[in-house]
Amino acid sequence: MVLRLSQLFLRTLREDPADAEVASHRLLVRAGYIRRAAPGIYTWLPLGLSVLRRVEQIIREEMTAIGAQEVHFPALLPKEPYEATNRWTEYGEGIFRLKDRKGNDYLLAPTHEEMFTLLVKDLYSSYKDLPLSIYQIQNKYRDEARPRAGLLRGREFIMKDSYSFDVDDAGLDASYAAHRSAYLKIFERLGLEVVPVTATAGAMGGSKSEEFLHPTEIGEDTFVRSAGGYAANVEAVTTVVPAEIDFTNAPAAEVRDTPDTPTIDTLVAAANALSPRSEADGGAWTAADTLKNVVLAVTLPTGERQLVVIGVPGDRGVDLKRVEATIGTFLPIAGEITLEAANEEDLKKQPLLVKGYIGPGMSLDAPLLGSEGASKLLYLVDPRVVSGSAWITGANEAGKHVFGLVAGRDFGWDGVIEATEVRAGDPAPDGSGPLETARGIEMGHIFQLGRKYAEALDLKVLDQNGKQVVVTMGSYGVGVTRAVAALAESNHDEKGLVWPRAVAPADVHVVAVGRGEEIFAAAEKLALELEAAGLEVIYDDRPKVSPGVKFGDAELVGVPTILAVGRGLVDGVVEIKDRRSGNAENIAVDRAVDHVVNAVRND
Ligand code: ATP
Ligand code: MG
Repeated sequence: MVLRLSQLFLRTLREDPADAEVASHRLLVRAGYIRRAAPGIYTWLPLGLSVLRRVEQIIREEMTAIGAQEVHFPALLPKEPYEATNRWTEYGEGIFRLKDRKGNDYLLAPTHEEMFTLLVKDLYSSYKDLPLSIYQIQNKYRDEARPRAGLLRGREFIMKDSYSFDVDDAGLDASYAAHRSAYLKIFERLGLEVVPVTATAGAMGGSKSEEFLHPTEIGEDTFVRSAGGYAANVEAVTTVVPAEIDFTNAPAAEVRDTPDTPTIDTLVAAANALSPRSEADGGAWTAADTLKNVVLAVTLPTGERQLVVIGVPGDRGVDLKRVEATIGTFLPIAGEITLEAANEEDLKKQPLLVKGYIGPGMSLDAPLLGSEGASKLLYLVDPRVVSGSAWITGANEAGKHVFGLVAGRDFGWDGVIEATEVRAGDPAPDGSGPLETARGIEMGHIFQLGRKYAEALDLKVLDQNGKQVVVTMGSYGVGVTRAVAALAESNHDEKGLVWPRAVAPADVHVVAVGRGEEIFAAAEKLALELEAAGLEVIYDDRPKVSPGVKFGDAELVGVPTILAVGRGLVDGVVEIKDRRSGNAENIAVDRAVDHVVNAVRND
């Protein structure tokens, strides 16, 4: 059907919406693709829906190609399955919860691992039924702390989520690899550049995991890559660990007076004045020779506040997102935590922590005797703090530092954590060269979940030997509505949207320019012929709208080919313009349909 602008449910806007921070949000609203219903919640209008359906179709085709089958779950789900995996608690404030009239708890699903696991458990019982991959394209609900940038971070959004079920690890590897290559094809077909990066598994549990990041300045994820092909989410970058050092002959540690040195800079200056280091021993002291002990406050899912001290080389800051990604393994309970620098109140409760002079050895790796409850603080260190490394660090007394405190000899720790910021120029962990940093939007995420969900929900099948084995699973998500936004973000100019052919709401936008009846008659005929040739056609047939407004709308809406029927008609020509390159040419009316059809086919 030809979409006639005189009939189409569309209002383009001249003004940017007040709440729009990014181009995609601004333009999708102005061009009449979406409307905001509530913060982070959007209504899809006909043009938007048509782009959305095209994106979904590409995803469906690639899922079908790897043998995945489509199902559809409810979005409204009972609490029980999520309790069995503890995610009812772990998600904290991140999920929308509600009660039915009998007082039973429900949630709007943020993701569907539990339901898929239970469905397969319900129906399948033998290794012969596996492998299985099933998926859905479904609304997800997350009460995001900061819904942002329109569709990019919504509170209701559409995700394609698939789940694979295998009887053994080799099977999971194959299912994971199939999804990985399907994802690369999907993004290629969408015309959306993505970089697959190694990720941490986070709240999902499990082991191997990769994210597909679309590089863009407005992205919220920072990632790093090397010229040699390494790419990882900043949270997943591992430090290149220096070799351990033999400390048999290392001099004894020495406490020295360092008045007024609460910061690393003042400490380094004092160290160089007090005990200059010879060129042969490494030259002047720098911040990297100091061990900075940063006190963080963790709020556990129970609401309890716990302090953690992290020892890092003084030349590096602590990256809270990196700490958050892995600190879970050191905490007493799993679940959503919040992490921040400890405040004055926190420090007052730990009198042995002297701000600006905190050090290990005296207090941190031994119970904090004298403090209330005599509890021991969790002390974690950066991987660069290897056995035998010697440090200048706090002596736990105002105005004093200890020099030559040797790791493994003079102090211990409860664990090693990737806590420091990753910097451009740091070596890639696989030896493939220095890292550079970039920003991106997470478009997709694939996980090897392993047996976590199957164990929690008791999904077992009989293996070849008639033995019950726990099924191993993968989970794979693509942000469908986010993909529409990312495509708009990466395909626009100052005049409006510029859709790639694969997802454009139509193939051609026919504009009747002027007043003459013959113009409208010719434009109408062309629109119908283009449609008959199998193209999706928008036809601007509005009778009393000025050429300026019509062209402005065509450029705002962003269909790749614009066919203008106007004054040239008396000379037997129409104008065909490529919205992407801006190139326009006059073509004879009777060749116009062929010309457009070829342009569409050859794209
Ligand atoms: P993010 O880190 O951006 O919050 P996530 O890691 O929580 O995303 P997943 O649970 O991995 O997201 O979900 C799979 C995919 O769903 C993501 O890769 C992303 O494309 C999409 N997605 C997640 N949250 C949102 C959201 N609030 N709005 C739109 N799309 C989203
Ligand atoms: Mg993710």
